[in-house]
Amino acid sequence: MRIVLMGPPGAGKGTQAELLTSELNIPHISTGDMFRKALREGTPLGMEAKEYMDKGQLVPDHVTVGIVKERLAQDDCQQGFLLDGFPRTVAQADALEQTLKELGVKLDYVINIVVKREDLLERLTGRRVCKACGATYHIKYNPSEKGDRCQNCGGELYQRSDDTEATVANRLDVYGQQTAPLIAYYQKKDILLDVDGNNAVQEVTKNILQLLRKEQI
Ligand SMILES: [Zn+2]
Repeated sequence: MRIVLMGPPGAGKGTQAELLTSELNIPHISTGDMFRKALREGTPLGMEAKEYMDKGQLVPDHVTVGIVKERLAQDDCQQGFLLDGFPRTVAQADALEQTLKELGVKLDYVINIVVKREDLLERLTGRRVCKACGATYHIKYNPSEKGDRCQNCGGELYQRSDDTEATVANRLDVYGQQTAPLIAYYQKKDILLDVDGNNAVQEVTKNILQLLRKEQI
């Protein structure tokens, strides 16, 4: 099965990706991993991407698409894959379609994890991290037994600058603007599956698997 997984920051996309790929027995291909692999193997595209990253610049589309193409052509992707973090734009989605066409396959589904904005805000702004050991907590859903101290090591808990309300609101806005055209694009192709992300982690995985199996009949 060939899947793209989409979801806003705080929707638990990474966790779902891990659970789904182990259940479906397909590789989890995240943009970050893909770049690291290309760099490690020293492919020409990997080296090109490195030049941009070393300068702190955004890697241009033709390089990213090239790396995706190399990755999807590898043996472990023959039976399917789950793409995470790509495509991010309609141009990239077109490039992906073209790539898959060249490989003689096509995308089966795009899973879109949907969580209400206010819930995402609550999830993300409530996160606290231990300064000493890096343990993570949530003031409401997973509080430390020791209040504002880490229950493992007694370290001080703090809010990452990424998780303040203004930053989170901005991250959600950027995500929404970026992905709205992509969601419309896949809706039009009739392969978009919306999944309610306001449930327990295992429940969301179960619902996704059920949707995929139902669609396949
Ligand atoms: Zn700690």
